[in-house]
Amino acid sequence: MTDKQPYIGRFAPSPTGPLHLGSLYTALASYLDAKSHQGQWSLRIDDLDTPRNLSGAADYILSTLDAFGLHWDGGVTYQSDCIAFYEAELARLINTQIIYPCACSRKTLATDGECYCINKQIDLTVPHAYRVKTDQSLIQFVDQIQGLVSISMAEQADFILKRKDQILAYQFAVVVDDHIKGVNHVVRGCDLLDSTPKQIYLQKLLGFALPVYMHVPVIKDAHGFKLSKQTLAEGVNLKDSQKIIFKLLGLLWQSPPKELYNAPVLELLEWAVQHWNPSALKHRQSIVQG
Ligand code: GLU
Repeated sequence: MTDKQPYIGRFAPSPTGPLHLGSLYTALASYLDAKSHQGQWSLRIDDLDTPRNLSGAADYILSTLDAFGLHWDGGVTYQSDCIAFYEAELARLINTQIIYPCACSRKTLATDGECYCINKQIDLTVPHAYRVKTDQSLIQFVDQIQGLVSISMAEQADFILKRKDQILAYQFAVVVDDHIKGVNHVVRGCDLLDSTPKQIYLQKLLGFALPVYMHVPVIKDAHGFKLSKQTLAEGVNLKDSQKIIFKLLGLLWQSPPKELYNAPVLELLEWAVQHWNPSALKHRQSIVQG
């Protein structure tokens, strides 16, 4: 992309629970990066993996962002409303024969570790997944925090674009969504750094423009575990928004002046947009919360 294009960023939480400190950290980083570039900051709810969705979580995420002054631009996009777009792109790939049906079960994969469906005639009347063939190409990109990332696709197994239960895979949906919305800057957690080469591979196959990537550190607890729903990280307390934003700015290696310690959230955010300097995080993949 050229510098002349307006910046379009996004935050894309999955509605699997309330936002914890780690997910709010990513939200704040992507908001600050977008706003410091006079960009748009859009919101997408990644709700395709229905068995993992928690009822009420999407609405609670919206209220949390509001309570923390992180107001998004435009309406909210729900991936579940966009299934026709993903299917259309999938059909395009099926036509080019770069993807193939796969009938492996978890059990067969667990025993063998490999999928051989590419060489088999799959019965399309029974439930099957779709995998994309990987090639020998080298995927390289310069992450704005992590620096040069270089991955050979030869090391990546053919990966799933649509699951056997008919749910479209995250790797695929995210690429189509970012393209449709014209997202040209993706700021997200380092836990997704391994997914990015796969997504770039798909962007190239589909002929989509590549966004600029910035993978911010993940927050770890005192035991070294990433804050996540699996480690039972608590949802942030909406009543403490001011203190939490101040703390998160510290964890983003920004240094708000002490005078702002008790400042209202919007004033803190205004300072943070004006002074946003992600280079302080260079090459960091995790940060332990104090
Ligand atoms: N929905 C994903 C998550 O909550 C993030 C997707 C993305 O930023 O690409 O982990």
